[in-house]
Order: sequence, then C-alpha cells, then structure tokens
Amino acid sequence: MKSNRRAFLQQSLTGAAGLGIASTLHAKAAEVPDGAAPEITAEVDVLVVGGGTAGTIAAIQAGRAGAKVLLLERGSQLGGTMTTGGVAFPGLFDAWGKQIIAGIGWELVKESVELDSGSLPDFSKVPQRHWQHQVYINQFLYAILAEEKCGKAGVEIAYYEFPQAVTKTSGGWQVDCTGFGTRRRVNCKQIIDCTGGAEVVGLLGLPRLREEERQPGSYLYMMGEAHEPGRNQIHRLYVHGADSTNSRTVTAANLTGRKSILEQVRAKKKRLMHLQPETGFRESFRIEGETVITVNDYRSGRKFEDAVCNAFYPVDLHTKNGVKPEPLKRGIVPTIPLRALIPKGSRNLMVAGRSVSSDRLANSGLRVQASSMAMGQAAGAAAALAAKGGTTPLELPLKEIHDLLRTHGAILPGDV
Ligand SMILES: Cc1cc2nc3c(=O)[nH]c(=O)nc-3n(C[C@H](O)[C@H](O)[C@H](O)COP(=O)(O)OP(=O)(O)OC[C@H]3O[C@@H](n4cnc5c(N)ncnc54)[C@H](O)[C@@H]3O)c2cc1C
Repeated sequence: MKSNRRAFLQQSLTGAAGLGIASTLHAKAAEVPDGAAPEITAEVDVLVVGGGTAGTIAAIQAGRAGAKVLLLERGSQLGGTMTTGGVAFPGLFDAWGKQIIAGIGWELVKESVELDSGSLPDFSKVPQRHWQHQVYINQFLYAILAEEKCGKAGVEIAYYEFPQAVTKTSGGWQVDCTGFGTRRRVNCKQIIDCTGGAEVVGLLGLPRLREEERQPGSYLYMMGEAHEPGRNQIHRLYVHGADSTNSRTVTAANLTGRKSILEQVRAKKKRLMHLQPETGFRESFRIEGETVITVNDYRSGRKFEDAVCNAFYPVDLHTKNGVKPEPLKRGIVPTIPLRALIPKGSRNLMVAGRSVSSDRLANSGLRVQASSMAMGQAAGAAAALAAKGGTTPLELPLKEIHDLLRTHGAILPGDV
C-alpha cells in the first residue's frame, strides 16, 4: 500500500510529459456559521462598504477602536485599486523631508515591504520627482496581510457581496446585501462608503458629482519580461472612456483593455507575463459633502479647522494626451477636513477614498493611496466613536477623533 502511494506521488511529481509539478500543500477552510443558510442577519456597529485602499484601513481602525465591524467587498480580495487594479506603488507618505501620513495604512505598507525584503524611500530627503518616493509593494502579499490585520482587529470580511437597498432606521441603517447564493440583512449604526464611486451615497439618492468626460482608466499588464511584484513598474494601457459606474460599464472597460493587450501580444510577438484581473479607474463619482475641497484650498495648503489628515501629491489630471503633474509649491501640505467625508445633510454616513468631496482638480491630487488610507483611518475612528456614543460623526468633539487617531499612529495636520 505504502509503496503504491509512493509510486503514485512520484508519477504525479514527474508528470506524463516529464515536466516537474510542484508538490501540493494542504489547508482547511474555516467553518462558516450558517454556511448553508440562503439568508442571514448581521448586527454590527460599523458597516464598511468597499475593501479597497481606504476601506481596509477604515475597517481595521474601527475594529481596533472596539467597534463590531463588517467589511463588504464585491471582489475576491482586499486592496482595491492597489491590488486588483495593480497600482501597487502607494504614495505619498512624505512631504518636504518629513513623513506627513502614517498610521494603519503606513503600518500595512511598511510590513508588506519588510516581509518582501523590499526597500522604503528615505523620507528625510526631498526627491527631485514626486514618484521617486512612491513605495513599491508586492500586491499579493499586501492583500493577504490586510486580511490578517482585519482578522486581528475582529473585522468580519464578506467577499462577493454588495448592498442593494439601504433604509434609515431609528438606530442607524438597515442594509440589504446580495452575494452569489446568499443574502444578508445588516443592521448597523454607521456606514462608511469606500466604494470609490460613492455607491451607497448613490443608493440613498444623495447628490454625487461626476464629469462628462473622466480621466482614462489604465489596464496594467506585463509583456516580454517577467513582472517581479514589489520591484518593478508594469506596463499600462490607457482605457479611454473607462467608467466604473456599474457592472456593465466595468465589463466594457475590461473587455476593451484585454482585447487591446491581445492585439499587442500578436503585433509584438512577445509573451504575456502578467495581467491584472481588472481595469484601474482614476475617476468616477465624488460626493457633495458638508465641505467641498477646491483646487485653491489644495494648492494653498489650506488648514481646515476640522482637518483630520494631511494629503500630498501634485495636481495630477490625466487626459487623452497624457498627464503633466503640477507639483505643489515648496512647503505646501494640503489637509482634508472631516466635513469633506460627510455627504451633505446626512447623518451616520461617511465616505473615504477617491470619492472625497472635492472639485475635479483638487480630486486629481487627493485621490492617491496614502491620502485615501489616511481618510479611511479618520472615517473609521469617527464612525467607531459615533457608534459608541450613540451620535453622528459631525457631532463628536473633534479632539476625541484626533486623540483616537494619534493613539493609532496617525499624523495630524500640525503634528510635524
Ligand atoms: C492607473 C492608476 C494609476 C494610479 N497611480 C497612482 C500612484 O502612482 N500612486 C498613488 O498613490 N495612487 C495612484 N492612483 C490612485 C489610487 O490608486 C486610487 O485613487 C485609490 O487607490 C482609490 O482608493 P479607494 O479606496 O477610493 O478605491 P479602491 O481602492 O478602488 O477601492 C474600492 C473598493 O470598493 C469595492 N467596491 C466598489 N463598489 C462596491 C460595492 N457596491 N459593494 C462592495 N464593494 C464595492 C471595489 O471592489 C474596491 O475593492 C492611481 C490610480 C489608477 C487607476
């Protein structure tokens, strides 16, 4: 019996065609409570919708602050544009020789670089070009580390699910969600919309802003040479007209991107070595918040009185002819106010990430990953405090939000 098994193993390792086959490791899937039930109900303090750049950090922060958190992500992994989109070079955490964004996002970025034996930029030096201080991360490792950090913070992750209906209740919200083969009713006190397109805000019929013509999306791939995650940039194809509004428009962008890459492979006769699963979208809906950040606020580094984090990046609008980043003037560090994360007139609802309330040009600089993470952490802290205090984020004493953020490593405007 034993020798038969050895023979089988040897055969499967050698393979019929004589090719080596890697050996198989084993892991056991966790038991899912009510795994076979077609419908379940969840009672949580904070529901984060969208487990991308901002949402992952929002969920971890709210969980670490003691809130019961559910993180809903329609895809199959965390990280959003950073991982699924392949834009695995977050920036900018520093400005003018100092680190100005830290906290949970930085912790995750730093750990993923260290585990991958990568290197971090020297923030004490001002780079000649802004992109020289973007951090190369291994997108695969980042996504798994993010799951580990969610687990440790007590955050429950629900992949393949998205909200279909949102109703106001006396205690907050009832959110009806759908996944394949399952439905979930979530009763929660606070919602943080981190979908990148303010989709929950849209479901509620609250105002959203969007341009007639949006910046192109990009499909990321690698042709002709190997892609080494966390080490090199990958090839990019502009997908003009890419629109992340819904599953039909995203399908159209993905089909266009992949078809063009196939044409490139045929034309250049090179091997396709790496292909992201989705187009990366630069621009879609932004909210109209209690405050709208203008490009003048951004360029002048306005210090909002309710600022909850810093931001730093050139004004960076991509057009059909490419991009010409407009660097900020020396010493300028823009800030993001709490009111830009709150849809106008709403309660118990926040937004973080690229749909932050801002005009188009301000948004072209604010949307980047370090600022999205900082916004996520601020929203997570405010939502957790509001859920605990039975209030809405805008009615919290600002100092409470700042204190909680500093406890969790964040750098606030004026701290450095
Ligand atoms: C091609 C490209 C290049 C860029 N270059 C840089 C760069 O060099 N440096 C930099 O820092 N930034 C860069 N950016 C900008 C930056 O990556 C994004 O603006 C930022 O990651 C957006 O973060 P987010 O959390 O708002 O959205 P995302 O990271 O996109 O996350 C949104 C998440 O929500 C999920 N979701 C959406 N709708 C639903 C729903 N209804 N229900 C459940 N889940 C949902 C999505 O699946 C996704 O995981 C670039 C962006 C692009 C596209």
